[in-house]
Amino acid sequence: MHCPFCRHPDSKVVDSRTTDDGAAIRRRRQCGSCGRRFSTLETTTIAVIKRSGVTEPFERSKIVSGVRKACQGRPVTEDDLAKLAQEVEEAVRSQGIAEIEAHEVGLAILQPLRRLDVVAYLRFASVYQAFNDLNDFEAAIDVLRQEQQVQAAGQQALVEEGGHAPRRSKRAAANTQAKTQTRGGKARESASAETQPAQERLL
Ligand SMILES: [Zn+2]
Repeated sequence: MHCPFCRHPDSKVVDSRTTDDGAAIRRRRQCGSCGRRFSTLETTTIAVIKRSGVTEPFERSKIVSGVRKACQGRPVTEDDLAKLAQEVEEAVRSQGIAEIEAHEVGLAILQPLRRLDVVAYLRFASVYQAFNDLNDFEAAIDVLRQEQQVQAAGQQALVEEGGHAPRRSKRAAANTQAKTQTRGGKARESASAETQPAQERLL
């Protein structure tokens, strides 16, 4: 693997540890030429089995490009797509399997896409689940409507609860803030540690 700073072909491992969830190994490496350090992350690859029987490695970029088409003209950012692809990968990896049918990857996309944008979801689902006619759309929209009603009722209940218990809602706000800070800290950490193509994968 090339040094991401100077492209020198050799580096030595100075530290190696398993990630908390045990799903990957992170290595700290030092370039033999420029001496700078960088990290690599070693994880198992997941093979996606297409209907034709051909397998290809699971890649977030393929999720993003597949979903991007359905999001054309919708208020969905590239960051939203990246987050969705990350969610899909986490869902797939959490199953602890080495192979997955392309069909199941599609299923894993539907839920997070529905939360992101219902129109994009309907577009994606109509192609992916091969909607045949208006009835299929109607059925899918009915499900969405019912869920939105349930959600709206839930939010209304929260608002009322908050009104009666201001102390509790303050604490909830503090919790949320703490979580955001933690997440921000982690994001910074990984952004500084991960340099360009520093991914190493088991084949
Ligand atoms: Zn170097």
